[in-house]
Amino acid sequence: MKRKLFLLLALLLICSACTSSAPAETPEPSPTPTPGEPAKTETDFRVEQLQTIAGFDETRLEDYLQYFDLGPHYVVPLVNQGIVNEENYGRLLDLTHDPYFLLSRASRYLDNPKETVRETVESVNADRDRKPFDEAVENDPSKDLLVQANKYYHFPDGYVPEDMVPIAAQYGIQTSLREPAYEAYIRMYEAARTEGLDFYITSAYRSYDKQVSLYNNYVRNDGVEAADRYSARPGFSDHQTGLTVDILTSSSNFSTFEYTAEAKWLAENAPRFGFIMRYPDGKEDVTGYTYESWHFRYVGDIAEAVTASGLTYDEYYTYFVRGE
Ligand SMILES: [Zn+2]
Repeated sequence: MKRKLFLLLALLLICSACTSSAPAETPEPSPTPTPGEPAKTETDFRVEQLQTIAGFDETRLEDYLQYFDLGPHYVVPLVNQGIVNEENYGRLLDLTHDPYFLLSRASRYLDNPKETVRETVESVNADRDRKPFDEAVENDPSKDLLVQANKYYHFPDGYVPEDMVPIAAQYGIQTSLREPAYEAYIRMYEAARTEGLDFYITSAYRSYDKQVSLYNNYVRNDGVEAADRYSARPGFSDHQTGLTVDILTSSSNFSTFEYTAEAKWLAENAPRFGFIMRYPDGKEDVTGYTYESWHFRYVGDIAEAVTASGLTYDEYYTYFVRGE
């Protein structure tokens, strides 16, 4: 009896081994039709998929099927909103393949094409299709350390961060920073010191009023257009977050800092301490600001993920933090 059972088990094992090593058959979704019932067609399966999508509208079925390659989750809302048509179908297909495509911005991508799909999505995700300052929205305080500050988000009037602490003279200019950023900065600085490097904070928190006088000064010297490329308008400055530091060494200035060992070290190591390079080289079209090798923004735990993503914080924020 036991022997019989053993043989049966062995046989079963062999059989399952056979089937698993056999060339994988295409997993046909069609179950064997019950006698008398016709086999389901590809279209039948598509319709079934579409019917599970929120907003599915029977009267639009023909269009869903015509543009089905967009995928059931995209095609239903895109057809419902009247966004997809024969002319833009190919472009939309390409756009949906970008890893950071946002359905909520589909028509903005179509209205603001750049040379490549990635550039189009990147630009719109960073709100670059909007009018800077004029079409800005107010900052969301619940984002805390992740708060956005760029030309499309502004601080409410009179905004001052709550947990500000003064910066000790040994670390640089005696202004202030939010406590978590300051503590992280000290950890970063101590780590750099053990490697024989040295730098200091040349600017950190800047109040609205301070930014008013800075910006007006730049405008007087260079004009509005030039000033907007390298300085934030009051209410739009990353420095008003209280989470930002500009770093220099005693032997460098803003134009030479990028060539120092300290700049190289910071570019590589700052994310370990929660800081990201906010205005990377070659991303002016996305951030709206020229490359700033000295400007680091504290975002806490997500700093390494932001850096590894290769996205600017403008795009990262829209996709991952804002949660559109
Ligand atoms: Zn700065």
